[in-house]
Amino acid sequence: MTVSKTPEDFSRLPLGDAPAGAGERVKVLFPLPLFKAYDYLLPPGATARVGAFVKAPFGPREVFGVVWHGLPDEAVPAAKLKTIAEVLSAPPLSADLIDFIDWTAHYTMFPAGSVLRMVMRSGDGLAAPARQTGYVLGAPPEGAPIRMTPQRQAVLDAAGAEPKSASALAAEAGVSDAVVRGLAKLGALARVEIDPDPPFAEPDLTRPGHDLSEDQQFAAEQLRRHIENGQHATTLIDGVTGSGKTEVYLEAVAAALARDALAQVVILIPEIALTLPFLKRVAKRFGGEPAPWHSELTSAARRRTWRRVADGSARLVVGARSALFLPFQKLKLIIVDEEHDGAYKQGDGVIYHARDLAVARGARAHFPVVLASATPSLETVVNVDEGRYEAVGLAARHAGAAMPDIALVDMRSTPAGPGRWLSPPLVEAVNVRLSVDEQSLLFLNRRGYAPLTLCRRCGHKMTAPNSDTMLVEHRFENRLVCHHTGFSMPKPKACPACNAVDGLAPCGPGVERVAEEARARWPQATIAILSSDTAGARAMREILDAMYDGAIDILIATQVVAKGHHFPNLTFVGVVDADLGLSGGDLRAAERTYQLLSQVTGRAGREAKPGRALLQTYQTKAPVLTALVSGARDEFLAAEAVSRRGLGFPPYGRLAAIILRGQDERALQACAQAHRAAIPAADGIEVWGPAPAPIYRLRGEARIRFLVKAQRNMDIQRFIKAWIGRVKMKAAIRRVVDIDPYSFL
Ligand code: ADP
Repeated sequence: MTVSKTPEDFSRLPLGDAPAGAGERVKVLFPLPLFKAYDYLLPPGATARVGAFVKAPFGPREVFGVVWHGLPDEAVPAAKLKTIAEVLSAPPLSADLIDFIDWTAHYTMFPAGSVLRMVMRSGDGLAAPARQTGYVLGAPPEGAPIRMTPQRQAVLDAAGAEPKSASALAAEAGVSDAVVRGLAKLGALARVEIDPDPPFAEPDLTRPGHDLSEDQQFAAEQLRRHIENGQHATTLIDGVTGSGKTEVYLEAVAAALARDALAQVVILIPEIALTLPFLKRVAKRFGGEPAPWHSELTSAARRRTWRRVADGSARLVVGARSALFLPFQKLKLIIVDEEHDGAYKQGDGVIYHARDLAVARGARAHFPVVLASATPSLETVVNVDEGRYEAVGLAARHAGAAMPDIALVDMRSTPAGPGRWLSPPLVEAVNVRLSVDEQSLLFLNRRGYAPLTLCRRCGHKMTAPNSDTMLVEHRFENRLVCHHTGFSMPKPKACPACNAVDGLAPCGPGVERVAEEARARWPQATIAILSSDTAGARAMREILDAMYDGAIDILIATQVVAKGHHFPNLTFVGVVDADLGLSGGDLRAAERTYQLLSQVTGRAGREAKPGRALLQTYQTKAPVLTALVSGARDEFLAAEAVSRRGLGFPPYGRLAAIILRGQDERALQACAQAHRAAIPAADGIEVWGPAPAPIYRLRGEARIRFLVKAQRNMDIQRFIKAWIGRVKMKAAIRRVVDIDPYSFL
């Protein structure tokens, strides 16, 4: 994506600084799927500037909204306008953020109100929460000695000068809240007020980072220069896993925070499981944990981060893609770690790509953006080649650790044997690691036991109800689960189609099935499975910690293990099915396979002991696999670039998908035909479709897709707007526009 290609009809909108006064008209945008802001009157005695949060009547309710820019329609008589109920004291949204909301709405073609909704999602952050009562050690009145019990003593031992809530104290002492309250009544504990959203520690910028290598210093210097210039530049840090990219961008973070005492910085990371160790690492660097932001935070933790970002006191945020929509007052640097990662694309609600939006945000608000990756996306590589982005390279692993030695296992000449998935060379490699007390990782990007359940008698495939998606057996829970819709059911004894009993057979392996084989083969070894089914962040963390400590011999895992983790004693990675992901009509299939396998093999040998990886494949000549073996990443990318250029695919052309869906297939077909008939003629733009989506039925709805392919210099949004504006939609059909689609299902 190129931000400079902003269409001319979208310009930075003037944001008045002077607050409007009582009785004046203002526009208000609500966090609802609305394309425009509505006119309101300010109540007597109130002033509000653009960005201020308000509560205003909307339909039958009062709704939180934001004073928006734009001129109210003076022709409407004031008597017809409703009056804002309340102007909130929460800090107003910054002009930069308002501009970003508008730009995002324009680019993604979603309503501005829906984008605002992402910013306001933590709505309870708008009002300061009630103060809580905390307890500290008190001085009991003289002459009234307190009868000590073991419970009371435990509470007093747990209490100190730092205030703690009754429940926290009680939990620590292993007693009930009543014991705490009783001690307070007697004066042995004193009550104090505590802020439920305490500020985050100010980053300590006097702490030195590691001594940087020459490469790292050069890279850090370049980033610092951009920060000192105070201008926008996007810089890619390109270096193999473990080369010290994180150390380098933490220097840029320090520089941005030091340059401006109010500056805020966000580091985006793709994987929630990585947040905890990452927060600790950042805490070590800056002397205090940064503000976290991801979907697994408790609502109280979300509110704390939201409020502290909004009041400007949280200066460093580490979060998932949605952290981009936090209410920053003065955002001055965005880091996108693992910029190639598919997790940056949000597919529900407002569909966006956080890396692309991060670059747009930096470009519009004039601050630097840093992308880091060992396997940058072709989009980014082309942006570097064409001079839009800069690049700094880190050539080697830090402290001389070598890259793993990667080889292919030809499954045609060395098969695993019937009903088995691990070939003799792979088994031998694990044997060697077990004999020298080193760890192995067996990687298979498939959750559950078997991806397909088939009736041996009639050939019936088990699918989710009203969907064309396969049910995946999860043997541990004895259930069949749909990974697309979330549907699950106990595994039936009989085939629902032909009633044959015990005829349902699992086909193909998932991690659970590989683990079954591994347990049978290596009964003495400690074996663990890790996938997104591993319930909860804590359980996942425990397995990762055990792996880090060397307590697990063989870890069998999906892609949750691919990113960022550092296991000192892991020296072997076996990829059970390297062909998975190579097939299918996805234009990025090869690129993604390269990224994933290079990340996962990069887990091996990150310290002194050398690492090795074996990739099991039936396609030993596949260019992506031979490139992995020879480490010829740039050549692989160059070949990908040639083929994408030939097809006019991204990044050499632009794509957008229009997806229509509904329960009534006839109405859906008619709607698709109406769209077909309305396609405007435009040079340089083609529309493919309508075509049934590869997963045609999902949750009872049928889905039909169009794909718009445009030359890079075309304004694809303008074309789509003109097109879909001609089609009258029926209420029963939903239409979604996906600009720059990454999924074609
Ligand atoms: P990347 O982000 O490229 O994967 P990291 O920044 O995580 O690499 O570095 C890999 C490991 O090497 C980490 O444990 C990190 O602390 C260490 N490391 C990197 N650079 C230095 C340095 N200059 N001095 C000391 N340790 C370093």
